[in-house]
Amino acid sequence: MSFPTYRGHLQYVCLGCGATFDIGELHYTCPTCSGVFVLQDLNFDTLKATPAAEWRTIFDARAASKIPALRGIFRFYELMAPVLEPEDILYLGEGNTPLVDSSPALRSELGLKTVYKNDGQNPSASFKDRGMACAFSFLKCLIRTKGWTEVLAICASTGDTSASAALYASYVGGAVKSAVILPAGKVTPQQLAQPLGSGAVVLEVPGVFDDCMKVVEHLADNYRVALLNSKNAWRILGQESYAFEVAQWYDWDMRGKCVFVPIGNAGNITAIMGGFLKLYALGIITALPRIFGVQSHHADPVFRYYAADAKTREYKPVAVTASVAQAAMIGNPVSFPRVRHFAEKYEAIGGPGSFQVLQVTEQQIMDSMIQANRHGHIACTQGGECLAGAKRAKELGLVSAEETLVLDATAHHLKFIGFQEMYFENSFPAEFGVTPKPELANRPELIITQSVKDKMSDKDYVVQAADNVVARLGLAKK
Ligand SMILES: *Cc1c(COP(=O)(O)O)cnc(C)c1O
Ligand SMILES: [Zn+2]
Repeated sequence: MSFPTYRGHLQYVCLGCGATFDIGELHYTCPTCSGVFVLQDLNFDTLKATPAAEWRTIFDARAASKIPALRGIFRFYELMAPVLEPEDILYLGEGNTPLVDSSPALRSELGLKTVYKNDGQNPSASFKDRGMACAFSFLKCLIRTKGWTEVLAICASTGDTSASAALYASYVGGAVKSAVILPAGKVTPQQLAQPLGSGAVVLEVPGVFDDCMKVVEHLADNYRVALLNSKNAWRILGQESYAFEVAQWYDWDMRGKCVFVPIGNAGNITAIMGGFLKLYALGIITALPRIFGVQSHHADPVFRYYAADAKTREYKPVAVTASVAQAAMIGNPVSFPRVRHFAEKYEAIGGPGSFQVLQVTEQQIMDSMIQANRHGHIACTQGGECLAGAKRAKELGLVSAEETLVLDATAHHLKFIGFQEMYFENSFPAEFGVTPKPELANRPELIITQSVKDKMSDKDYVVQAADNVVARLGLAKK
């Protein structure tokens, strides 16, 4: 197998005013109207000359490729960023995350055929790596072609974006310096640990995420910096790989499939819709899966928009309140114009109801996450949000037991472990509105005390401890 020969002609298209810009310059928002960009391949239609069956064969064959540049998200090179050369492409093991069928017990509890796609099994433990692999590969391409000796990779974040950006920046090194800007005192030790461990310069400012974002944007407007927040259209492109992988896993048959995605800044759901639309345009899939965005009632601007009457609805940012789906706790999503753009295209093909947004409660998110993980999943709180969304869809009669529901576990369970702890210890601050179900709580139990141990010989102590285990679990002798 050799590296693909096709090369695209990519340009930025502004969703605000329609202006187009060359990719030779670093652009994040439209210099004319401040709108957000999508990347468009002007050569895309030439890909239609290759029959759909041949594309399927090509992508399936690449699954066995030993070329690192084709092992991750660039398995779908022609649909991804076909302006890169093999030496530009970064591969840190991202993509190809498993789809894990829910156990028979969980499926029967739910009355639904659920499947988790574990995007927490990416290198920095969230789906953000898909977008970073693409954005950093393009940055490498710019450095190579322009001979840059220094560029600052920067993002504002309190969590997964900074973890991922710092990881990829530390791998590339050389001309790439890495910094993340965080709101002082508003990040947990886990959220700080990843960029610190990757050696990024971690800078704090007083305030919240939005304050950090403003600083980063000012830097991007005035200095040579690569902004790695989801305004960066290359990140959206990389995240399309999620859709390609779901389709490939089901042998490109998307009939009877529903895809559930948590919505925060709305980059991911945009990318997933965009990805399926590309496959459809080439005939690689012949039906679109239905897409369900899910939001918490504490951060639901996209839900509110689509819940309103289509003729009169208006987009309004909302003030967010505390949410366990912390990575999706955003009141004014940067990618909202992208959602509107792709949802319209999506519904034009898939019909009414092919794109919908559901609202769930904080309580449902927590209960669902714990329920999933007690059946062998590794869902984060946002993954719990997807399961809560699936249940809500069933309640509303939107999905049936015959359909396959693919739930996005966007990060690894361990990244958001503090919420599990609050649930098990019944220590949620009131603003979350979460009351743990006692039957789902789980705490460690001391089986024998130090003072009992001190009074016994080692041998007696072992027997006593074992007896206590037997009594606790009600074990029968063999
Ligand atoms: C970033 C993130 C989200 C939200 O994704 P958007 O693209 O901002 O909608 C959800 N879950 C996790 C774990 C994230 O890191
Ligand atoms: Zn514009």
